[in-house]
Amino acid sequence: MKIYTKIAQIERLLDLDCQQIYHAKLVEKVYSFKCTAYYLNLVKNSDFTDPIFSQIFPQRFELSCFGEEDPFKEEGSFEIPHVYKRYKNRILIVTTNLCFVHCRFCTRKRNWKGKVFFFSHIDELIELLRFHEEIEDVILSGGDPFCLPIDLLEEIISKLKSVKHIKVIRIGSRAPVVAPDSVDSKRLRILKKYAPLWLNTHFNHYIEITEESKRAILNLMKAGISINNQTVLLKGINDDYGVLRRLFVQLASIGVRPYYLFNCDPVKGVLHFRVGEDIGKLLIERLLDNLSPMYVPRFAVDTENGKKIVI
Ligand code: SF4
Repeated sequence: MKIYTKIAQIERLLDLDCQQIYHAKLVEKVYSFKCTAYYLNLVKNSDFTDPIFSQIFPQRFELSCFGEEDPFKEEGSFEIPHVYKRYKNRILIVTTNLCFVHCRFCTRKRNWKGKVFFFSHIDELIELLRFHEEIEDVILSGGDPFCLPIDLLEEIISKLKSVKHIKVIRIGSRAPVVAPDSVDSKRLRILKKYAPLWLNTHFNHYIEITEESKRAILNLMKAGISINNQTVLLKGINDDYGVLRRLFVQLASIGVRPYYLFNCDPVKGVLHFRVGEDIGKLLIERLLDNLSPMYVPRFAVDTENGKKIVI
């Protein structure tokens, strides 16, 4: 799979102007650029009116000094490195800091810095879970778990499945959206062995629903995976009734349940994407007036004390 990791590699492909290149190269020194050739190909206009361009192209606002890198104090919330516990009955494992794409609005862009890691504490975690019977739900997150070596992904899932009180395993991955080729027969075979599993994916705009992403979704469903979608409400990208309506109807039509619309977190380097809570609420109210609630997501805001469901 072709992945671009430097602005210099895409300058000509996107026909960027000098100012765009200048700012993006400054930003990439702090928050690196990364994008699959597949996802880059969805860009129609090389400016911030384009919803794909805006999700992957570095903006100078990312260098703002406002906001915190870890506002919800995820780091250190559990005894094992790269495991977060913010709710009584569930934990989240940052399985790697690798992603196929660096989404500019990422909540965990702090993890892009530093050396690449793959989760190596599964035995320690399984041992510790014996003393945490309250934990029944594990989220494999990242980074993107689809970037893990396949044997490691299998090892993590199989060991978690062996713990009696773990009832739910969810994989959080943008793979069907940004790298549908990675949903390949090898991975599908492994996932099918451990079905039922849940996959929470992340479509933000209807333009991302392509023939390739639809095929990836269908193959995951055939492998016994139930799929939910978490959209992040992003200024200038999807903070619009028509865009969200079309996105949620199309997701429902391919068998994906719109699960959450998240307010963008107050993370350092992403504040320019944030939309007011009142706008998110109004958008959902209008969607509820016009669509079946079955495919209108809940609007949620992350807080230090957990998730607040606004509507
Ligand atoms: S795929 Fe997810 S974890 Fe990776 S950069 Fe995008 S939002 Fe962040």
